[in-house]
Amino acid sequence: MTDKSQQFASDNYSGICPEAWAAMEKANHGHDRAYGDDQWTERASEYFRQLFETDCEVFFAFNGTAANSLALASLCQSYHSVICSETAHVETDECGAPEFFSNGSKLLTAPSVNGKLTPESIREVALKRQDIHYPKPRVVTLTQATEVGTVYRPDELKAISATCKELGLNLHMDGARFTNACAFLGCSPAELTWKAGVDVLCFGGTKNGMAVGEAILFFNRQLAEDFDYRCKQAGQLASKMRFLSAPWVGLLEGGAWLRYGNHANQCAQLLASLVSDLPGVQLMFPVEANGVFLQMPEHAIEALRGKGWRFYTFIGSGGARFMCSWDTEQERVRELAADIRSIVSA
Ligand SMILES: *Cc1c(COP(=O)(O)O)cnc(C)c1O
Repeated sequence: MTDKSQQFASDNYSGICPEAWAAMEKANHGHDRAYGDDQWTERASEYFRQLFETDCEVFFAFNGTAANSLALASLCQSYHSVICSETAHVETDECGAPEFFSNGSKLLTAPSVNGKLTPESIREVALKRQDIHYPKPRVVTLTQATEVGTVYRPDELKAISATCKELGLNLHMDGARFTNACAFLGCSPAELTWKAGVDVLCFGGTKNGMAVGEAILFFNRQLAEDFDYRCKQAGQLASKMRFLSAPWVGLLEGGAWLRYGNHANQCAQLLASLVSDLPGVQLMFPVEANGVFLQMPEHAIEALRGKGWRFYTFIGSGGARFMCSWDTEQERVRELAADIRSIVSA
């Protein structure tokens, strides 16, 4: 019997993974110091430094919108601008929070190919205007894995960071699904971040099996100046911080973060392999992380909803997104695929 509650609308439909849960339980004995002065926060930060093989500054926030917005705000002044892809979460799904927390730094969208920015698209936006009347480009933000389930290769990241260096831009990475990118490429976290020129990473925990929480890693430590104050002012300093940091210890210490990223990716591969040859069904993007985007006839989308499946269709007419999670059951994937098959073959 499969777990019928499992849906593919988003990876945050899932619950808390056993490792994160167990660590929270362990942290829940006795008293400990507040506001991040505790042993769990210390241990989680140390695990991050080990995993990334560098002495980075580590902070914790409740969610990705806050992590991204505050990180971007720390990289620019209010009169600066942030270059992002037109499909970026910061542009389409954060309700203006990056602009709000930076006191007005404007997001400038660049065309993307399969959800990815390129050195050319960045250059075009950055050099479009250089007069006093236009907000001065200061940051590039990219999403790894992207909003459409693709993954930047180390070479692509290096080419982008070289362009950033040349143009005097800081490089931020929205890593809400960073684990899925690491799992897909088999690259170390260091290779996909600071070794490729990334200054700041927002590492997502929620979609990787935690209840709540994202980590912000500054590889360029100078950019982290006063970041603790920024978090506090934004209402992002957890007073019982250990419950935000302990789950990271659970995920990082035994490698669960990568196993789960890998599992979710495998489920997406399975789904893609089961439906991509069906008549009228097309993969909209290469399946590289934990999402499958299918172009399907409108009536098929309706029929699939009628069978009780939940999924998003924000990618335009006929486009359906299916996300796999750390705990997605392969049998449940097969059930979804079978329903799609029966609908489009009817
Ligand atoms: C989920 C997600 C986030 C974080 O969103 P919150 O709901 O604010 O936690 C950030 N970036 C991307 C690409 C995401 O998919």
